[in-house]
Amino acid sequence: MAAPRPLPLSELPSDIARLIERDGPHCVWCSRRLGLAYGDASREHVFPRSRGGKNTLANYLLACHPCNTRRRSQDPKAWARDCERRGLVVQHELVEQAIVRSRAGEGVKTSYLSRRERKERRRLRAAQEPSGA
Ligand SMILES: [Zn+2]
Repeated sequence: MAAPRPLPLSELPSDIARLIERDGPHCVWCSRRLGLAYGDASREHVFPRSRGGKNTLANYLLACHPCNTRRRSQDPKAWARDCERRGLVVQHELVEQAIVRSRAGEGVKTSYLSRRERKERRRLRAAQEPSGA
């Protein structure tokens, strides 16, 4: 009997499909390939809602349900270290990209950023403004 194939991206919830396209079909915390029709794939908030994180793709990563549930609202870097202590292979590059992306853009509320991070956000946004418009 052939193993069931993962669903094509077109049949997945659009957020999950976009995360798979952007980051690949793995859990960021344990690197497990998300399988069987991606039923075990979940949207993970890099910055939890309780830490100012928004419901935006900028603030989402792909994680398996067990990792997502176990993390709850821990800080992303502290949680990554915790995963490594348990022998998991963390996708550090994706986590780091998501932290930068969320701080720079629409991933986390400005009021949750430090002064230095707010300054950096203003700088990045100014650099994105079309000049001479
Ligand atoms: Zn996982």
